[in-house]
Amino acid sequence: MKPESLMMSYGYKPELSEGALKCPIFLTSTFVFKNAEEGKSFFEVAYGLREKKEGEELGLIYSRLNNPDLEILENRLTLWDNAEDAAVFESGMSAISTSMLTFLNPGDTLLYSNPLYGGSHHFINHVLTRFGINIIDFNSTESKEDIYQKIEDANLSGTVKMVYVETPGNPTNSLIDLKMCAELCSEFSTEERKSLLVVDNTYLGPLWQNPLNIGADLIVYSATKYIGGHSDVIAGAVLGSKELMAQIKGMRTFLGNMAGPWTGWLLMRSLETLKMRMETQAFNAERVAAFLNEHPKVEKVYYLGDLTPEKDPEAYRIYKSQCKSPGAMISFDIKGGEKEAFKFLNSLKLIKLAVSLGSTESLAEHPFTMTHADVSSDVKNSVSITEKLVRISIGVENPDDIISDINQALEKVKVPDFSFLQ
Ligand SMILES: *Cc1c(COP(=O)(O)O)cnc(C)c1O
Repeated sequence: MKPESLMMSYGYKPELSEGALKCPIFLTSTFVFKNAEEGKSFFEVAYGLREKKEGEELGLIYSRLNNPDLEILENRLTLWDNAEDAAVFESGMSAISTSMLTFLNPGDTLLYSNPLYGGSHHFINHVLTRFGINIIDFNSTESKEDIYQKIEDANLSGTVKMVYVETPGNPTNSLIDLKMCAELCSEFSTEERKSLLVVDNTYLGPLWQNPLNIGADLIVYSATKYIGGHSDVIAGAVLGSKELMAQIKGMRTFLGNMAGPWTGWLLMRSLETLKMRMETQAFNAERVAAFLNEHPKVEKVYYLGDLTPEKDPEAYRIYKSQCKSPGAMISFDIKGGEKEAFKFLNSLKLIKLAVSLGSTESLAEHPFTMTHADVSSDVKNSVSITEKLVRISIGVENPDDIISDINQALEKVKVPDFSFLQ
């Protein structure tokens, strides 16, 4: 069966919960063992003192290690990405930082794509470097040869242990070729040391891009975005093979940054409508993009659905090979600069002025001064994040209402008149 058919029931047994149709919220810190022998047996598995028997699951011990709401949610999350296992965290950032801390050691090199989510960029540049991890970045315009040249120029002692990629890039939807990254990882790998490809799949996942099928080793999510989808919960997830996830779950146990049962329950509720929400958002986004493309006060639209083999052959090729939909994130350059962008944002009525994305309500923001304020001007310029750029996350409202809100806000903007220059 398809994931959307299983989201209401998969992994939950009503007979274990007094017949309750829905999985209750297991607000308990600890679990009672039937007898001392059972407690001993559960701990043997938890601490890896013995191999699991055929079909044996880790018994319920303590909610930092496991809890029914988290386990059922994790089982359901694996279905969308065809993953062996998943781990849920209290935020996207804890999913990301835990994945990095699990596999990177002093002297290792992390290769990452630009632009990254601001929090990930900060963690890599200001925290990992304190622990002796070398970092090298690349962007969507750089080829495999360019990347090899950069690594050679950096003259590092250690090997590249992890390639960390966000695609499509936030906020301009620039694409990184995941197949090329998977090739890099296999070239960096040796018998004893596997180099891992980790993909932040928040922007298109889990419906529209499935990196594990394209050679990624791990997927990370901010479940705060599409997966949660209602702007009412912060959460994150990591997905991958049983072997890698066992290491990540081990690290999570000791960092103690698992999600709580209430978060787990909220996300299970969200997953039931994930497909309908995301499909409606993508449907609306297509209409909004068409409107923006025709508007005289809009200079350029950054929307995956606009890629063509003639204008952008390379991006189009990557798009066709790894994305199943253009998604619901649109950015555009307004004619003018910060003043015009702010006037537009301040004039919106239905669309709220807020960061975050992927939720039922449409949100708009100004990346240059908000989500990407911390990124250096050089990097911002190299990836088209300028004062005139506005980002919109399209929600599930009626598309005509979204468009008329954008239209009335654009009407309030006075485009500077440069005609005297001609
Ligand atoms: C929001 C976001 C994150 C961080 O997730 P939190 O849930 O806010 O911790 C990471 N990556 C991307 C692409 C995001 O949009």
